[in-house]
Amino acid sequence: MTAASSKSPPDRPLASRPPHALALFDFARAEGELRGVVPLSALPRLRDLLASDAGAPVEWTLRGFQRERAGMRPQAMVVLHVHAELGLICQRCLQDMIQEVDDAVEFRLVVDEPPLTLEELEAEDEALPAQDPVDVLELIEDQLILALPLVPMHAVCPQGPTAEQSPATPGAAAQVERQHPFANLRELMGNTKKRGAS
Ligand SMILES: [Zn+2]
Repeated sequence: MTAASSKSPPDRPLASRPPHALALFDFARAEGELRGVVPLSALPRLRDLLASDAGAPVEWTLRGFQRERAGMRPQAMVVLHVHAELGLICQRCLQDMIQEVDDAVEFRLVVDEPPLTLEELEAEDEALPAQDPVDVLELIEDQLILALPLVPMHAVCPQGPTAEQSPATPGAAAQVERQHPFANLRELMGNTKKRGAS
């Protein structure tokens, strides 16, 4: 995975856009690997959640493989790695901030979306229905949205919390709410499945 974060570009040209219809079972069987860079303008659902277009384009890597486990049939898998720098509003000082997202998720390819069993709820990966070709751009966008922090904050605020933006200001709290339309969904998903440790 070190190649994914390498700053020097590989010899082959980067795919500018992720494939809109990729047969993931074949991709996993062939142990395929794709990588590229996506501008935020190609990710409108994510962009709606951001405070600004500041930050770098999204780097992504998709790798297919077969997971072998003793006593089990080989399982078709893909791992999607995304790296992005996203413009958000710090919820402590209410100033612009850049949130780095560096997230890898393993997907276990399945034919149908099955009802979740207890085992699957506790699984370290996520089931991904892949009987039809999958839109990799959508997958990347979903993963970035889920990786957004519930409460983005500077590690150290540039000016520290300011008196004029104190929590007592009624407008500030309302602004925080509007900033995170996705917070509830993220919370919901956190309750139903564990995501891979990253
Ligand atoms: Zn801050």
